[in-house]
Amino acid sequence: MKKKTQRYFPLVVSAPSGGGKSTVRAELLRRDPRFGFSITCTTRAPRPGEKHGRDYYFVTPREFENLRRDGKLLEWANVHGNLYGTPVKSVRDVLDAGRIPVMTIDVKGARSVRRLFPEAVTVFLLPPSLDTLRRRLAGRGEAPESISVRMRTAAAELREADSFGYIVYNDTLEKAVEDVIGIADAECRRARLNLDAVKRFEKDLKRLNSPRRRKK
Ligand code: ADP
Ligand code: 5GP
Repeated sequence: MKKKTQRYFPLVVSAPSGGGKSTVRAELLRRDPRFGFSITCTTRAPRPGEKHGRDYYFVTPREFENLRRDGKLLEWANVHGNLYGTPVKSVRDVLDAGRIPVMTIDVKGARSVRRLFPEAVTVFLLPPSLDTLRRRLAGRGEAPESISVRMRTAAAELREADSFGYIVYNDTLEKAVEDVIGIADAECRRARLNLDAVKRFEKDLKRLNSPRRRKK
């Protein structure tokens, strides 16, 4: 069977906790059929309303260790005491379905993906201010201790922002989502992803210019 040309790239959306990754992802998936969600796995317990296989694959620490040992994870990280990892298959399945896998992962995970997938497009979401970040974390129902831990981690995460391809301000959701869609639009026009169209054009031109055809 002819190997399908890869049309797309993984889109990594990262941010400090509370930066808006899940919110932006939900909007991207709702608004644009080019995007697909690559489900990740975690050892943390499901929150109310979360579903196995939709929000995460919820696994035991032993299951996680087996996946990691068997090389089934593209990357993994310990985030605030729980293990999280992206199954290679999750990303592959979305790419094979002709979609852009949206990977909403922490900053360490983004670093690993960049190393393994140099063609990945990486976006760092930046909340408009620390105060807003704190308010959003509180609004999500995080306890004060959990907010303090996340704010401390955020300081180190912000230092890595310059290794991302893009920084998007998550002030209003609408604008942030439009910016990410704009980035995906531009990245889809990368020459290396559009060479099939050029080749078809060349083939047609060759036929048109062939001596046999010109004689007619
Ligand atoms: P993350 O997935 O990065 O941890 P979330 O998507 O859970 O962050 O967002 C944290 C909180 O901030 C959520 O309660 C969410 O509704 C809220 N939020 C995210 N983006 C915005 C925004 N642009 N405007 C207002 N609230 C937002
Ligand atoms: P939460 O527990 O709030 O759903 O997620 C905590 C953090 O882990 C978030 O920053 C989330 O984006 C990140 N995360 C979720 N899945 C993965 C993953 O597979 N790998 C990495 N590195 N981080 C992840």
